[in-house]
Amino acid sequence: MVKEPGRELRIKAEFDVIVCGGGPAGIAAAIAAARRGARTFLIEANGSLGGIWTSGLLSYILDGDDKDGIMREIFDRLGRLQARSGIVCDVETMKLVVEEMCIEAGVVVRLYTRVSAAYCDGQGRLYGIVTDSKSGKEAWGAGIFIDTTGDGDLAAQAGAGFDYGQEETGVTQPMSLIALVRAGPPETYKEFAVNNGRSVRLYPEIVRGGYNPTYAKAGMSHIRDQLYIMMANHQYGLSGLDADHLTRASMDSRQDLYRISEALRSLGGIWQDFRIVATAAAIGVREGRRIKGRYTVTIDDMLQGRRHEDAVCRVTFKVDVHSPNPQDSKGMAAYNDMYRNEVKPYDVPLRALIARDVDGLLMAGRCISGDFLAHSSYRVTGNAVPMGEAAGALAAAAVRMGVLPQYVPWQEVSDVLLPST
Ligand SMILES: Cc1cc2nc3c(=O)[nH]c(=O)nc-3n(C[C@H](O)[C@H](O)[C@H](O)COP(=O)(O)OP(=O)(O)OC[C@H]3O[C@@H](n4cnc5c(N)ncnc54)[C@H](O)[C@@H]3O)c2cc1C
Repeated sequence: MVKEPGRELRIKAEFDVIVCGGGPAGIAAAIAAARRGARTFLIEANGSLGGIWTSGLLSYILDGDDKDGIMREIFDRLGRLQARSGIVCDVETMKLVVEEMCIEAGVVVRLYTRVSAAYCDGQGRLYGIVTDSKSGKEAWGAGIFIDTTGDGDLAAQAGAGFDYGQEETGVTQPMSLIALVRAGPPETYKEFAVNNGRSVRLYPEIVRGGYNPTYAKAGMSHIRDQLYIMMANHQYGLSGLDADHLTRASMDSRQDLYRISEALRSLGGIWQDFRIVATAAAIGVREGRRIKGRYTVTIDDMLQGRRHEDAVCRVTFKVDVHSPNPQDSKGMAAYNDMYRNEVKPYDVPLRALIARDVDGLLMAGRCISGDFLAHSSYRVTGNAVPMGEAAGALAAAAVRMGVLPQYVPWQEVSDVLLPST
């Protein structure tokens, strides 16, 4: 037993808005809040902003090309830097672009720092958090906090209720470690790495090379020159909320990816120059906590194509569950086919971004309030960005008006609401 002495930490700085997690949702939330005049602090655990786009090496933006606002700005900036090919973007340029946008907006950014505790007052309002980093433990205060950690770390630390995994079983989708790979010129790989999309024909080639990978829909997307993104493995039955599981998943994945690379190279021909350039700094976690909000987005919303007056994001992406059980399938779960022709575009309302149990707390990105199947659809990054933008706008309005987010009249954030249809 180690007995840690209790201690009081002086609040190092007070902000109007603190955003925890600098992925697609977090950068949009911070930029939106700062542009509206809120003194905004963005805290990120990894060494760059961008989350799955950068530390996760997956700059492949689904459901984003029909979005306005910050999502369009990111696409436009990447385009001007010749760093996108449709929805596939260059990872290094993405880091630069999102960091520049935060700096220009006046966001105070702290990298290499993880939120590790959160404290509410006697009325259940979140007022302070503690972070861990090379600088030790530090305490920070804010009027409004936004959880964009993907896993809902901040909300859970603050005592908010949440769901995790499939409702009946608690099982979660597998994780995947993305790799950047170098191969021959794209003309040679038309079948395996389609431009502006992902071919899933890599799997039979890997098997032909003598290795049976963990993901039967292994695929590559072309980024530029002879550089590709490869998603080719699944890590089953492990939790993204457990550091031991994350460690095992990352190390097993690297073994898997190395074997895949060896198998492909052994085929010679177009595969002879195939090499892994880098594996992601952080393994891709498809599912974390889904924090209880003032509205819960469900599969029924998808089936009905439900619209809301406080809609902030229209999702057009399908049910997309990667099989949690390799005995059933090493590809996609049966849900995907079951709902393929049933679901319609639907709205995420502002209320799904406001925590139910903790005051002064918003969520955006994959940790918002939703059920297992809806989450598999709205979680993609083209939706995380508008959700983040809306949460940032709402936080800034709440601070300006001196009220909790749930009491901000929707017309105060009309610029992030979708036109009613
Ligand atoms: C393997 C895989 C493949 C996917 N494929 C696609 C795809 O092709 N296209 C697509 O658009 N989407 C894809 N998705 C979905 C998409 O990646 C996520 O749903 C998306 O990242 C949601 O954005 P986010 O900002 O909510 O979360 P994230 O991108 O996960 O960002 C969360 C950020 O918070 C930080 N963080 C976490 N905990 C803490 C903490 N305690 N303190 C401080 N910071 C913290 C993390 O380091 C990270 O930067 C994929 C996901 C995975 C895992």
